[in-house]
Amino acid sequence: MQWEVVIGFETHAQLSTQSKIFSGASTRFGAEPNTQASPVDLALPGVLPVLNKGAVERAIQFGVAVGATVAPRSIFARKNYFYPDLPKGYQISQYEIPVVQGGTLSFLLEKDGKTEMKTIRLTRAHLEEDAGKSLHEDYHGMTGIDLNRAGTPLLEIVTEPDMRSAAEAVAYAKALHSLVVWLGICDGNMQEGSFRCDANVSVRPMGQKEYGTRCEIKNLNSFRFLEEAINFEVRRQIELIEDGGTVVQETRLYDPDRKETRSMRSKEEAADYRYFPDPDLPPLVIAQEWIERVKASMPELPGAMRERFVKDYGLPEYDAAVLTQSKAMAAYFEGVVVKAGKEQAKPAANWLMGDVSSTLNREGVDIADSPVKAEQLAVLLQRIADGTISNKIAKEVFAGMWEAPSDKPTLADDIIEAKGLKQISDSGALEKIVDEVLAANAKSVEEYRAGKEKAFNAIIGQAMKATRGKANPAQLTDLLKKKLAG
Ligand code: ADP
Ligand code: MG
Repeated sequence: MQWEVVIGFETHAQLSTQSKIFSGASTRFGAEPNTQASPVDLALPGVLPVLNKGAVERAIQFGVAVGATVAPRSIFARKNYFYPDLPKGYQISQYEIPVVQGGTLSFLLEKDGKTEMKTIRLTRAHLEEDAGKSLHEDYHGMTGIDLNRAGTPLLEIVTEPDMRSAAEAVAYAKALHSLVVWLGICDGNMQEGSFRCDANVSVRPMGQKEYGTRCEIKNLNSFRFLEEAINFEVRRQIELIEDGGTVVQETRLYDPDRKETRSMRSKEEAADYRYFPDPDLPPLVIAQEWIERVKASMPELPGAMRERFVKDYGLPEYDAAVLTQSKAMAAYFEGVVVKAGKEQAKPAANWLMGDVSSTLNREGVDIADSPVKAEQLAVLLQRIADGTISNKIAKEVFAGMWEAPSDKPTLADDIIEAKGLKQISDSGALEKIVDEVLAANAKSVEEYRAGKEKAFNAIIGQAMKATRGKANPAQLTDLLKKKLAG
């Protein structure tokens, strides 16, 4: 039997406001427990929530960015449940009428060696407050409650069940993460819990219309865990059904050490939460002018930038998508092109996706902090283009620029000069070297002339070695061919 995987996402993005969604307490991460919990967050009697305008502004920014409807009027609701880290006994959320409705998120997906555009429909995004945190670790043998996080503003972004594999789910999560960080509405720090994904997973026989019963895997806070958890869950459900069992709708947790999901609780139905409009908060009314103001102040979005890179610089779709994965990467790329010229766009893309990215990854450095600045890379590309150095030598020059002390940024030209890396394009000099190499490799020459094409590689290798990689490769090939033919 062939199975189809169906996945829908609920993502909690912590909004980057200074203060909480309904109180003036700070949202800063890492403070001493309970030092950032105001009477509102503690649910002391007689307090009233006051909505943070900055949180609403960020929700509008998100709505505009995904082409959603920003509701002119939305409602805050109480979601009732009992838990020690929820002092009010309810969470303020939005239920029937959320602030952001609909919208889509598109991203490039690599599938069977090809790249294709995938679009996921968003159901909604609503504003809500976070709960506190239980501290089970080593607290005098007891569990402590830290309410610093209680009341932190969240945007919960819900998709339709549009994803069909773990790989698609990861690509969606990465695209969403990059969008909220791009907009500056969320810091995206997954270790600190600023971006948490719940994956709803089900399977159905290929071709069946109805969805299967789903399980929700909660609080996945790394892309790797997300992929592992979904893959495990898919296998578990298929095995369960094939063995004659049925999937029970429930909430599960992923254990990264054992690489498996485990049942946490049976799934609550909406009715269990006894949702009702919060009488302490008036409806959230958003004037059209506010939405227009947000639209006007919007930065260029990754999707638009990706299309512009293809159109203006002639980049392949794939390159444009990779370069627009982060604002800093895109800015770096454009910095190089502005300095080196449009005809260097493709080489710039190659360098950024190749040597630059691998060096950044290896050294654990963010592109914004790269010791080699965009202007420096631009000069390097120009030196390759004008034939001063070969691509191979350029790697050595790049490494030299990377290692230069930060207070003394070095230009490619300085390194080429200091290390004598200039390409040998002087035909007289090159001819002399070629003659020497041919004389010293008589055996290979003989083999080549006898028809063994491969021997040419050995000869050119020797010639490159003799010039310490500095020979102009095209010129060297021409010269060798001419001499060998003669
Ligand atoms: P609830 O309110 O109980 O959490 P929703 O209808 O809001 O349920 O759906 C929550 C998430 O689960 C959404 O992202 C939705 O796309 C997804 N989902 C719903 N049904 C399925 C299914 N059968 N398989 C996979 N995902 C599903
Ligand atoms: Mg839900």
